[in-house]
Amino acid sequence: MVARTDLKRQPLMMNLSTNWRQQLRDSSITPEKLLSRLELPAHLLSGMDIADKLFPLRVPEAYLQRIHPGDINDPLLRQILPVVDESFKVEGYSSDPVGDLASKAAPGVLHKYQNRALLLLTGACAVNCRYCFRRDFPYAEQQIKPAQWLLSLDYLSQTPSITEVIFSGGDPLILSTQKLTAITNDLQTISHLRRLRIHTRLPVMIPARITDTFCHWLASLPWPVSMVLHINHHRELSEDVVQACVRMRAAGICLLNQSVLLKGVNDEIKLQQVLSEKLYDAGILPYYLHQLDPVTGAQHFKVSDHEALRLHANMQSRLPGYLLPRLVREVPGEAAKLPLKEVVEMHI
Ligand SMILES: *Cc1c(COP(=O)(O)O)cnc(C)c1O
Ligand code: SF4
Repeated sequence: MVARTDLKRQPLMMNLSTNWRQQLRDSSITPEKLLSRLELPAHLLSGMDIADKLFPLRVPEAYLQRIHPGDINDPLLRQILPVVDESFKVEGYSSDPVGDLASKAAPGVLHKYQNRALLLLTGACAVNCRYCFRRDFPYAEQQIKPAQWLLSLDYLSQTPSITEVIFSGGDPLILSTQKLTAITNDLQTISHLRRLRIHTRLPVMIPARITDTFCHWLASLPWPVSMVLHINHHRELSEDVVQACVRMRAAGICLLNQSVLLKGVNDEIKLQQVLSEKLYDAGILPYYLHQLDPVTGAQHFKVSDHEALRLHANMQSRLPGYLLPRLVREVPGEAAKLPLKEVVEMHI
């Protein structure tokens, strides 16, 4: 007689729940579990433990399945693996490298650029990207809390120059579709809003998040909607991610991608070329390629400005203009994200 639990046991590779919330809960894993799951050498553990205390390891199973087991240099692994270098203090790196705290206009509202305001709807993400410029950002204090939502909404209503609202965080798709619906219902009372944008990594990390209900919500919105995904390497575009993109495009939204230039992840011409081409195959247009923000703990991902410019010039010669992302750096106090070339010429 076979025990019931044995019948229910899942094969090693496929313990993927179709329930995205369950996948989200399961994304909080220990360094030990990651090592054994990906067959990585035990000597990594002490460094992982140190970095895990600074910024916890978090990665969903759907993403782990795209990492090659046993390869400590896998570009997908590097993005999520806590390493001891994160604990080093380096001159020029800080906890708020882009001046977010200074641009706070109302609870959870960052109004840095004309015409568009960014809403910090949550502090949580499905994944903790080791290079994240918000890895030290005080989310718990800064995100919009339900009791303050009316104040945030009031600021948007009272500021007619804001024609675009950007859902950000953390990752706004952590919120239930029901919550998102309540928020967009409130936003519909503001007549000067013309566009909605969503910055998210969830369709890539947990494609099951793109449910029919979610797509219906997207299709029901009264504004043109764009979604900026965050894909750094073409192997992040697994078949289920591509299918999620197909469903979202069928709901009528425009898909864009921003990535971060990261040493050992995507700092090679061939990889950038393939990334742009695969994005286009999936119906996504490259938007920005960000030069790394100097956040404490991410210095080992740095690519020099000189190398970045050379790489970008090389991309320009190999890609059609519409597949060339803008290479930018965010400089605190500037009116927009600046082309890296300008920044270098201005010696900022
Ligand atoms: C990056 C960012 C935006 C969006 O900038 P775009 O150039 O429009 O993509 C808006 N607000 C804040 C605070 C930002 O950091
Ligand atoms: S998903 Fe975005 S906000 Fe969240 S950790 Fe990654 S880079 Fe940072």
